[in-house]
Amino acid sequence: MSILVTGGLGYIGSHTVVELLNNNFEVVIVDDLSNSEKFILDNIEEITGKRPIFYPFDLKRKELLEQVFDAHHVEGCINFAAYKAVGESMVKPLDYYENNLFSLINVLQEFKKRNISNFIFSSSCTVYGQADEMPIDENTPLKEAESSYGKTKQMGEDILKDFSKAYHKKVCLLRYFNPIGAHPTALLGELPSGIPNNLVPYVTQTAAGIREKLSIWGDDYPTEDGTAIRDYIYVVDLAKAHVAALQKLINTENETALDIYNLGTGTGSSVLEVVKAFEVANDVNVPYQICPRREGDITIAYANADKAERELNWKSETPLEEALKTTWEWQKYLRSRDL
Ligand code: UDP
Repeated sequence: MSILVTGGLGYIGSHTVVELLNNNFEVVIVDDLSNSEKFILDNIEEITGKRPIFYPFDLKRKELLEQVFDAHHVEGCINFAAYKAVGESMVKPLDYYENNLFSLINVLQEFKKRNISNFIFSSSCTVYGQADEMPIDENTPLKEAESSYGKTKQMGEDILKDFSKAYHKKVCLLRYFNPIGAHPTALLGELPSGIPNNLVPYVTQTAAGIREKLSIWGDDYPTEDGTAIRDYIYVVDLAKAHVAALQKLINTENETALDIYNLGTGTGSSVLEVVKAFEVANDVNVPYQICPRREGDITIAYANADKAERELNWKSETPLEEALKTTWEWQKYLRSRDL
């Protein structure tokens, strides 16, 4: 069975492609390389012994997308292609709405036209904002996202709910908490692009001497050590959830199935805990300074991922320290390639 993976050379996309190939799906990737590199395709082949079909273009190019659907008997899609920098989305909102939503709609139009079902959408826990209660389950009320990036995820979810209902399509929305880590082969991971915004890439680059010091954004939160809490989920565990979600969609007879799952570990870790775990796991030093809170940051977010365990038979398996070891190995790989 052929699955279209948009953004399949990106961070989570590439790990998911590996899991799909390992489960004998055929994979057709469309990725415009705006946040990836062609060598990721070679590395996927090195890991799996299989080379996915790859088309390098922007999904806003409808005519090219049509040709992909003409050429392959696509029977499902996992949609990763999107811009994802929260801060950038606030200064370039139109680029975010255009890129993240037009490309999504173009794929959905092809699904509608060709009567294809089985669509998985990469969503995010940002759709919950600062939830009133922890842990966050799928019934936790959504709050208006603060960033334009977050709004594209909320709008994407709304588009897919309507799509499922109106056209009788099987859809799954996966709400990721904080993905971290790299493939155990150190051949896939998050590629650096400028100064990292996310915690773990910044910690890693600080340990590698690329950044002088980590800034910890606030130690006056109402948490045990005063730093903010998130749910850090290992990217390979996350990738496996996509295969489980896809298999469930394929096997269901309900033509308007709309599944929603939180993908997290169920455990929150503070910024300081992550820094310490990284130091211990990799026997390195991460210099840091405490700074004022970052605008828009919430205090605490961690998942209740029981629904995914119950219905997908999936759960996060990799401990934080192990995930942080793979990040460090990936950093060494990047250095070996001068990246
Ligand atoms: N954080 C930090 N320094 C950094 C980057 C992040 O202290 O250089 C903190 C941030 O304030 C938040 C946590 O680490 O509390 C996770 O941030 P990230 O941007 O990785 O994810 P998100 O805020 O989207 O959950």
